[in-house]
Amino acid sequence: LLARTVQDVVQFNDVRTPPGYNATRLPAKAAFVVLTRNSELHPLRVAISQIEDRFNRHRGYPYIFLNDEPFTEEFKETISWATNSRVSFGLVPRDHWDLPDHIDRQRMRDGMAFLKSKDVIHSDSLSYRQMSRYYAGFFHKHPLLEDLDYYWRIEYDAEYTCDIDYDPFVYMRERAIKYGFTITLHEFFDTVKSLWSSAQNFMTTYPHYLEEKNTLDWISSDGGNSYNLCHFWTNFEVLDLAFLRSERYDKFFQHVDQAGGIFYERWGDAPIRSVAVSMFLRKEETHWFEDVGYTHTAFQNCPASPELQKKCHCDPGRSIHLNDFSCTREWVQLPPSKA
Ligand code: GDP
Ligand code: MN
Repeated sequence: LLARTVQDVVQFNDVRTPPGYNATRLPAKAAFVVLTRNSELHPLRVAISQIEDRFNRHRGYPYIFLNDEPFTEEFKETISWATNSRVSFGLVPRDHWDLPDHIDRQRMRDGMAFLKSKDVIHSDSLSYRQMSRYYAGFFHKHPLLEDLDYYWRIEYDAEYTCDIDYDPFVYMRERAIKYGFTITLHEFFDTVKSLWSSAQNFMTTYPHYLEEKNTLDWISSDGGNSYNLCHFWTNFEVLDLAFLRSERYDKFFQHVDQAGGIFYERWGDAPIRSVAVSMFLRKEETHWFEDVGYTHTAFQNCPASPELQKKCHCDPGRSIHLNDFSCTREWVQLPPSKA
């Protein structure tokens, strides 16, 4: 209860800077951000080691770890062995995490029971919903991210399977790309039943927020009548934080948050983010990092070009964009906004 507000958590910020480390020399104000639990320490080391081996060892972008509970000293110490970069540890403010007052508890429990009866993953997990809400609407407000322009999201147990020989942050800045992804999928319908009607409501109320050359055709295959369940898989994302800090994004998040579907249904941060990206960005402002080999749970992105394969340890035949679960082909086929 000590750390209820954004101001309250500042005292828990623990920033560990190795001798000689100088963040001001980095080409972009960017960092890796990881929301994680103490218990995920060892699987998380897998992802961090690969990020370091494949990309960051000679670049030195810092890491920011966030948790709704205080990190243990063991976690902080052990994870910092994985990198020579600055590592920061922060606490999530309760105001950004606790179940909001406007949520009807009984309605939430009924919604959980319904998903459980359908065997949907994370059906009755409250913490999963809190995590989703945090990534959808709050993490970018954490004081440790204040000075950042870009962030790259990392999750435990992820594998980076190809060398990344260029700087994705600089790549994005040079091209004014606001959203970078590797994998797209279809969401389970029962978890987002009323997300589209909430988004339609938002678009009717705030038409001026919409990008004229938006990519709504990617997430609706019938001219806006319904959601086709396509979404960016947000466990990997590289993002221009100005996009999340914008008034339109914030208004949309608040709208979605008020509707309550994060708790009643199980709207994930991935479909929420994807609807926002589709409403507010032009195609050229989004980018498929086709060349970034990335594996998380059963799904992977793996580049096929022989030139890239030399620096990979993944099977290009198993890249999810070749499969109908994915929506990447449809994203590629979107016409450029200049057409
Ligand atoms: P999934 O990939 O959609 O199945 O979701 P995960 O269970 O992997 O959670 C996404 C990320 O949020 C992971 O990196 C987790 O470590 C983190 N996370 C999920 N729930 C919590 C939580 O309750 N507390 C903290 N600190 N991290 C969480
Ligand atoms: Mn995950």
